[in-house]
Order: sequence, then structure tokens, then C-alpha cells
Amino acid sequence: MNQVNFDTLCLSRELLHALRDMGFEQPSPIQAETIPLLMENKDVIGQAQTGTGKTAAFAIPIIETICSENRQVQAMVLCPTRELAIQVADEFRKLIQYNKAISVVSIYGGQPIDRQFQALKKKPQIIIGTPGRMLDHLRRGTIKLAAVKTVVLDEADEMLDMGFREDIELILNQTPESRQTVLFSATMPKAILELTQKYQQNPQWVKVMPLEQKIPLIEQQYFEVSQKAKLGVLTHLIDLHQLKLALIFCNTKRQVDNLVDKLETEGYPVGGLHGGMSQSKRDKMMARFRKGAVHLLIATDVAARGIDVQDVQAVFNYDLPENTDRYIHRIGRTGRAGKSGLAFTFVSSGQIRQFSAIQKSQENALHLQSAPGAKIADLKSIDTAREYRRKPKGAMKKGRKKFNTSRKKLQHA
Ligand code: ADP
Repeated sequence: MNQVNFDTLCLSRELLHALRDMGFEQPSPIQAETIPLLMENKDVIGQAQTGTGKTAAFAIPIIETICSENRQVQAMVLCPTRELAIQVADEFRKLIQYNKAISVVSIYGGQPIDRQFQALKKKPQIIIGTPGRMLDHLRRGTIKLAAVKTVVLDEADEMLDMGFREDIELILNQTPESRQTVLFSATMPKAILELTQKYQQNPQWVKVMPLEQKIPLIEQQYFEVSQKAKLGVLTHLIDLHQLKLALIFCNTKRQVDNLVDKLETEGYPVGGLHGGMSQSKRDKMMARFRKGAVHLLIATDVAARGIDVQDVQAVFNYDLPENTDRYIHRIGRTGRAGKSGLAFTFVSSGQIRQFSAIQKSQENALHLQSAPGAKIADLKSIDTAREYRRKPKGAMKKGRKKFNTSRKKLQHA
């Protein structure tokens, strides 16, 4: 890689000053590759996971090309969640701290719209928002995009997963055709490629830190464990690794609430995060997790999207994620900024097929472990479970019976 330095990127004094304050010494690989292209007004497709420094990669060129005397919206960033919108806006604010003539506003659902009207009266040149609320403002005429020079779609795959495609297209159609379009995505499914073909011109493809390179920093383990034994295995792992900051994923709000109750009863400093909570509750919970007041944050995928908390030691897939993309997003919350992390996945014997796709995607980086504190009888290896499948029903029943008997024994032990 060519040696790119912030000093050699021809950045303004104010921005260099801010970068120094923020402790950024060297551009991250995605910044080194993307910033020069964006400064040349090129469209870019950035394939990178969260935690690679994407935000500054698009924020720096945006800030440098804003015409500060012009108080129209000149740049817009669309993000999948309010949490991410807040984080991106925070990073922008740090970067423009010595540029008093530039301002940024974040808009997202869940916040009173009146407050956003007030903020928009300051005539920000940069708007960060979630697609639904952005569209709402466009319809009300409180945001106008006629002077937009740059549009960024951050975590585009997540936005499409959440069903925002139509909103995104409606929004893009209100921006000038001459705009620069930047798209970041951890994965590149067909729908993303369609978007880039439709809305980008001759995009430059920047692929940094492919997942295969990033994931070895994360020690991935899986446990074949029955539903009932999950809680015991979870608490053993928390104690064994003395976890002070961990994310635990469940698939539904109800499972999150249940697990919060159970762990609270056992005396763990735990909190829940899901879409059924009010925005202010979610913000408060995130702040407590960031500060370390809550050691274990139990979340659904949607609520945890975009969470960027440094030093998350472990991610638990308490419930198996629905697909490989979700798995990658979940475990990417640990092992950030070059640090190592742990990812534990609980698999029950009925989930073998679903799990093998995940395992295959990780090129066998996932290792079967026997759970601490549980006897091996309580954990069945994937191979054993597969064997049961192939055998006639009677054998399967026999196998289950044996499994249940050993579990009972374990419970009484
Ligand atoms: P992404 O948008 O890819 O999820 P972020 O832009 O949020 O990643 O960056 C992850 C973390 O790394 C943030 O805390 C950010 O401030 C920090 N960071 C980004 N670029 C640099 C850099 N060049 N040097 C040091 N820290 C950086």
C-alpha cells in the first residue's frame, strides 16, 4: 500500500488540528484509499466492515469540499439506524470543531420532529439521517436537497435488509444528477449492485480489510447446547472470561427481556436493547453500556445495528442468527481496531443446517468447544447430531432419550 499520510492529503489546517485532537495519526487503509478518490469527486463503492474508519473516510472529503458561506444542504449521509446516525454526526462534529462556519444536523425517527425543525433552522450544510425520517422532512419541505453535492449510503446492505430501498430511491431522486454518490457496505448482494448501477457513475471499487483478514482477530467458538442449558453455559463463559463488556444477541424482544430478567436475578450488571423501547431509553442504555455501568448488553439485531463501542470483549449468539450476514455483523462488534475478541455461538441440534451455512462462510474458523461447567453429555457435537438425522426415527428417539437422560443427570448433579 502506498504511504498516505494526513499531511500529504492536502487537508485544511482546521481539519488537521481536529484530527490531531482526535488522536488520528495515520489514515486507516480505507481512509488512505478513499479520501483521494472522493476529493477528485469520484463515485466510490467501499466494501468494508464497521470499525474500519469509514466515517472519517467520507467525512473528511465532504468537510473539505463544503462551501461554508453557502447555507444550503450540500452533503447527506443516510444510515440504517438512529444509533449510527448519532455516531456519524458525532464524528463529523469532532472533525469540524475548528470550522465554525460548517454545521451538521442528525435527523432520525423516534426524536420529536419539532426539535429537528429547530435544528434545521440553523441551516446545516451536512445532514445525517435515517431514510424514513429524511423522507418525512423532504415531504414537509423542511429539507431541500437541490444543492446536494455528495450523498453517502452508509451500511447500505443493512438499509436494504431493513426494507429502506424504496425510501432511499425516493430520496436519491430528489438530489441533483450531478451529485457524487458514495456507497459503503460490508456485503455486496445483488440488490446493492443494482443500486450502484442505477445511481452511480463509473464507481471506483475500494475493498479494504476483507472479512477473511479481519475475522482471525476474533476467536470464534460454538457450543452445541440445548435450549435449557444455554443460560448455564452463558454464565459460565461470562465468569470464566471475566467479561466486563459483552454483547449478547437474541432474536426477539421477548427473548431479550426474558434473558435480562434471568441474568439480573443472578446478579449480573445487565441491560436490554430492542426496538420496542423508546428512543430515550435506548440512548440511556447505550450510554450506560459505553460507560461500563452495564457489563452485558442483551440486544436484538435491529437495535444493535451500528453500535460502535470500543473494547467489546465478546459477542454471544445466544440465539443463532438468521443468516450469515447477520452473523458477520454481530461478531464484528468485537475485535475492533485491531484488538482481539471472542465470539460464542450457541447451536441446538435442530439448527444444524442453518448453522452449517454460517460455519462454511467462516472457512472452518469456528471451533466446537465443550461448555465450561457442563458435561459433554449436555452438548452434542454437530457430527453426532447429523448422524441422528440420517438414522431411522427409532434411532433418533433413542438418541434423544439418551441425551435427555444425561441432561437430567446433569441438572441433578
Ligand atoms: P466505521 O464507520 O467503519 O464503523 P468508524 O469510522 O466509526 O468505523 O471508526 C471506528 C473507530 O476508529 C472510531 O472510534 C474512530 O474515531 C476511530 N478511527 C477512525 N479512523 C481512525 C484513524 N485514522 N486513527 C485512529 N482512530 C481512528
